[in-house]
Order: sequence, then structure tokens, then C-alpha cells
Amino acid sequence: MIVQIAKHSGFCYGVKRAVQILDDLIESNNGQKKVFTLGPIIHNNQVTEYYEEKGVKIIEKLTDFVDNRVDGDRLVIRSHGAPKFVYDLAEAQGFVVYDATCPYVKKIQNTVSSYHLKGYNIIIVGDMNHPEVLGINGWCDESATIMNNLHDVENMKPSDEPFCIVAQTTFNLSTWDQMIDLFSKKLSNVIINNTICLATEQRQNACVELSKSVDFMIVIGGKHSSNTRKLVEICSKNATTIHIETKDDLVDVSMFKSDTKIGIAAGASTPDWIVESVILKIENEGEVFFDGKSQFNG
Ligand code: SF4
Repeated sequence: MIVQIAKHSGFCYGVKRAVQILDDLIESNNGQKKVFTLGPIIHNNQVTEYYEEKGVKIIEKLTDFVDNRVDGDRLVIRSHGAPKFVYDLAEAQGFVVYDATCPYVKKIQNTVSSYHLKGYNIIIVGDMNHPEVLGINGWCDESATIMNNLHDVENMKPSDEPFCIVAQTTFNLSTWDQMIDLFSKKLSNVIINNTICLATEQRQNACVELSKSVDFMIVIGGKHSSNTRKLVEICSKNATTIHIETKDDLVDVSMFKSDTKIGIAAGASTPDWIVESVILKIENEGEVFFDGKSQFNG
């Protein structure tokens, strides 16, 4: 069988950077202070387990009192970023904050913050429950209107007021384009910032291309990872597609015949060792001699 990996698969720049910040912190800290992350450092259970084994603890919400914490403990803000109040609260609780917010996300936070101060209405195009969107909204006093689809824009009243629109970095590009067309018709004073990350666009385009040329697509990434789920959606339009987290989810390798063309794509939070272990499982017809994890270095 022919196995091909989509270009731009796996860790993006922001995720690599966040993981590196956490790795450097663990190394320099040398067990002296407790290390916490606000939410899992990335949306990948296997990576989360890897860091748990290294003593990193996850705080789900900073509003909760954190047990066994002492002044000077470390708190890492992951690549999705966090609302402004979280930084204030972390400082008030005595944490030393390590900010691993992706610089592209930080730029969106700065944009909404400055336009909010200038009196603009803020619209975030994205998923209202996604931590990145919640984080961005936290830089304009939670004043943003969050819209996710064309229907939301259709329901909007035309307005002459000033608006600033930004997108969740992982938002679907073609839906964004359609929404922007409609926004431009309804809003006469609008600043539109296409803040969809290039990594997302490249990864999505590579998936479209590869899924058109194969029989079967395997998309590897966390079940809760929004960017991985979008790759599944895109690939499903062109090829039979399955979404797996690890090689263990790939139960029946015998369904692949010798002439099956298989495409593999990985979400932004999927480490290379997981991709490699899936390929090895396919190539060895289900027998796995090596799980690749020993290669993971962040
Ligand atoms: S997808 Fe883009 S914006 Fe999001 S973390 Fe990766 S590089 Fe940053």
C-alpha cells in the first residue's frame, strides 16, 4: 500500500514554542517549584500524560483555589492564551507566569484590546466555547459578539457603528470568506482582520489536495482538538476518513489492501512519534515493534 503524509502535518509553530517553553521550565526548575499549566498544554492526551509523568499539574480554572500551591510556583499559559483577568489573578495568587500564548494569538488579543479602547464593537468569528476565543474576549472586557456561521451574520441588523472583526486562528477559511462578504454588506464602518493562522490554512489546503488523491484518509489528533476535527471534516468530503488519536484506535489494519492509497494528516497538537507509530502499524500490518515515544523530546 502507498502511505503519504500531508504537508504541514503535526506541531505548528505556536505549539512547538509552547512545548519548548514548558520543557525549558521543567529543566531549569529542576523540581524546586511546582509547575502548573492552565488547561492541558496542548489538546493531546498522550502529550498530557507525558508531562504528568514529569510532575506537571493541570489547573482547569484559575478561579478555583489551587491546593498545595505556594508563592513562586510556576503557571504556564498555553498557546491558546487566556483572558486578561487570569494574569491578574495568577499574580494575586503568587504564581510566576510563563506566557506560552502563541504570538499570533497574542496579536489578536492586542488588536481587540486596542479597538475596544477606541470604542469599536468587537466581533470574534469562532467557536464561543473554545479557550482561544474565550481568551481573546477577555482582552476586550468580554464585550465581543461571537459568531460561528453564516446564519449568525444573516440574523445581524445592518449598522453604521464601528466594528472590528477578528477570527479564531483555526476557523475554516471558506466559511470565513462567506461571512466576510455578508458582513461587508451589513456594516458600513468595519475593520476586518483575517487572523486565521497560515499554519491552519496550509494544513487545510494540504489535506484537500491529499484527500483528493487517495482512497482513505487517516487524521491523527486529539478527539477534542478543534483543528484536528476540521481536518476530518475537510478530508471527509473527498475520501473515506477516520479520526484516530493513536495507533491503538486503528483496530483493523487488514482492511487496507496492497494497492490502497492511504493519506495521513495530523493536527497541530499531534507529536511526530504518534504519527510514526501509526505508519509503522500500517506498514507492519498491525504488528508494532516500536511505539516511537522514546523519540519525543517536546
Ligand atoms: S495554529 Fe497558528 S495561531 Fe494557533 S498555535 Fe499554531 S501557529 Fe499559533
